[in-house]
Amino acid sequence: MSFNVSDIRKQFPILDTQIAGKTLVYFDNAATTQKPRVVLDALEDYYASSNANIHRGIHYLAEKATAAFEATRKSVQKFLNASSHEEIIFTYGTTDSINLVARTYGEAFLKAGDEILISNLEHHSNIVPWQMLCEKNGCVLKVIPIDDHGDLILEEFDKLLTEKTKFVSVVHVSNALGTINPVEYIIKKAHEVGAKVLIDGAQASSHIPVDVQALDADFYALSAHKLFGPTGTGILYGKKDLLLSMPPYRGGGEMIKEVTFEKTTYADLPYKFEAGTPNIADVIAFKSGLEFFDSLDKEALHAYEEELLQYATAQLKAVEGIRIIGEAKRKVSVVSFVMDGVHPQDIGILLDQQGIAVRTGHHCTQPLMQRFNIPGTVRASFAPYNTKEEIDALIAGLQKVRRFLL
Ligand code: PMP
Repeated sequence: MSFNVSDIRKQFPILDTQIAGKTLVYFDNAATTQKPRVVLDALEDYYASSNANIHRGIHYLAEKATAAFEATRKSVQKFLNASSHEEIIFTYGTTDSINLVARTYGEAFLKAGDEILISNLEHHSNIVPWQMLCEKNGCVLKVIPIDDHGDLILEEFDKLLTEKTKFVSVVHVSNALGTINPVEYIIKKAHEVGAKVLIDGAQASSHIPVDVQALDADFYALSAHKLFGPTGTGILYGKKDLLLSMPPYRGGGEMIKEVTFEKTTYADLPYKFEAGTPNIADVIAFKSGLEFFDSLDKEALHAYEEELLQYATAQLKAVEGIRIIGEAKRKVSVVSFVMDGVHPQDIGILLDQQGIAVRTGHHCTQPLMQRFNIPGTVRASFAPYNTKEEIDALIAGLQKVRRFLL
């Protein structure tokens, strides 16, 4: 276990990128984290020495690829502390995982008049699948409001939660504001009325420890690419009894036991939900991303990210005209802000010219932006390889933006 920022930086080749004579400052980690060398090597190694389709082959390469693919499932099981590898479904990412649950659990078990509870902090991928379900089967979507700091108003949650509530789907950590939601409380209260709970863990997984059994989450979704792994793969954790009770999602190869024209029987878990050739290379390389993350001293990492957050928040507040959006009680290292008189996109473009990558816009959370009455924000989101010097560069860049545009 170690935590040394310059050692960590050396593991990420992309951080040496030069833009307009300056070394890249990458503050768009909430959109996707960068990938350590071990992940790049795993991708190359897979195609160079293991490439084969998995599960059905009896030859050497097929067995090697299958073993590596299934090894990632075991790593994810350990990472989430799931009780069985059968509870780990490979998907294409958080969006796909949520759609899977809405389309299978939702269509099979939720009916007209049942209420689904989400929050005002949700990413579009935890809004739209539920809206689509409501349109199809007459469920009713309810929204937990937030206060001006970006915290959920729990008294309102308590009021919205009734015996009509059959499903609650909330984000663990807001991608736009960094708010950490009290998901333990939400899950406990939801279970008291008999509702099932999905937690969107896309942002939480790289910042806070996740233990699905301790949380008692029914479903937990995440994306590998936000956790130092490749794009195009993600996870749906689901409690085994629920996954067993749900109909399959996509139909095709891999997810069947036997097919005749009269009837098809489905494969056991987890394969019932994994139709077609999966994203083999990226799943295999995800294991290396998890190993990288696992190698970091978590206590030191959390302290360091908190230090970056506090430093960035204080420095940003000192810049005239900047207002931070979202100062929740518990936050991860994400800071969203607006500057009086300047559109977030213009800030992003001018920072880009100085080699600084931030995200601007609505961050796929339009209802959240509507809540704050703004078109969008500038978002800087930090990872273990970021430094205070990079934050200083951001502040200097913002001063330049002010001089240039105001
Ligand atoms: N939920 C949250 C909170 C997110 O931040 C994101 C990605 N920005 C998603 C869901 C969707 O993840 P993906 O695009 O990897 O499916």
